[in-house]
Amino acid sequence: MPSEFDLIKRHFTHATPRTLLGVGDDAALIKPSRGQVLAVAVDMLVGGRHFFMDADPASVGHKALAVNLSDMAAMGAVPRWATLGIALPKADERWVAAMSRGFMKLARQHGVDLIGGDTTKGPLNLCVQIIGEVPARQTLRRDGAKPGDDIWVSGTLGDAALAVAAKNKRIKLKPAELKQAMQRLDRPAPRVALGLALRGVARSAIDVSDGLIADLGHICERSAVAAVVAIERLPMSVLMRRYCARPIAQAALLGGGDDYELCFTAAPAKRAAVERAASRARTPVTRIGRVIRAPEGACSAVIVDGDGLPVEVRQKGFDHFG
Ligand code: ADP
Ligand code: MG
Repeated sequence: MPSEFDLIKRHFTHATPRTLLGVGDDAALIKPSRGQVLAVAVDMLVGGRHFFMDADPASVGHKALAVNLSDMAAMGAVPRWATLGIALPKADERWVAAMSRGFMKLARQHGVDLIGGDTTKGPLNLCVQIIGEVPARQTLRRDGAKPGDDIWVSGTLGDAALAVAAKNKRIKLKPAELKQAMQRLDRPAPRVALGLALRGVARSAIDVSDGLIADLGHICERSAVAAVVAIERLPMSVLMRRYCARPIAQAALLGGGDDYELCFTAAPAKRAAVERAASRARTPVTRIGRVIRAPEGACSAVIVDGDGLPVEVRQKGFDHFG
């Protein structure tokens, strides 16, 4: 069995060209660029809760970093440094090696240095902290939405939640369909390029990790506004379109988690600028609704059908304690 230090040396010690001092000391040393503020986020992935215990370890490593990169995207930040805390039931070196490969491949794609972490025995758990940079006046925050803003979302929604529903046998997908949906669940592609392109264009942003209604609801609360979204405008993959008449698929579309798309608002005068940002980032975006004044302090997102009538949504979003 490899020791903790063997694992660190073999799998978690990599070149850190953007860092003063990386893995190997009591703390890493980083130097922020001039004129930038640091954006810091942490996300924990618990085995059996955030990923299936039989999930491919390279995908687990990918996802542990991807969900954090998604938070950077939602702030308009460039991701720069990451730390990785990991608890392992046993020193399974093959698992660790594959996990680290998935993590590092995505890290290199985004120019992120792995600068430290902690390795311990315990129930399978990965905790990644990410640090990014953004000019102070160009941060994308949840509290900037204004009544009259357009609401936009990137990519398509619901596929990852459809994969979870299929794994839990609540919907049956054909093998090729399951593979496609699992790809969205296991290998999310964080919208970092879009977040950067939206600096100075979007007025507020969030990444959709707990379902569109819940996450757009967070923008509403923080901005003290409400949102009206047309269900017919929601962007769906070909796969989602095939199943969207089923209640479980509709729940996945509106309240399923793990999309890692960006939901953002922008003034209607910025429509052309949003389209330009999207094409620069090579990321499709769809205008799905409008920000309105909050009626009687009800700061939430309402989904309406083609007749403008509210759609009843049973699953409002993922909540670990809900
Ligand atoms: P300490 O006793 O000070 O906590 P450790 O022995 O835990 O130090 O870690 C030694 C070095 O290895 C530190 O630089 C730490 O940041 C790094 N490290 C430990 N685990 C990981 C990991 N999973 N990923 C990246 N770096 C790690
Ligand atoms: Mg330690």
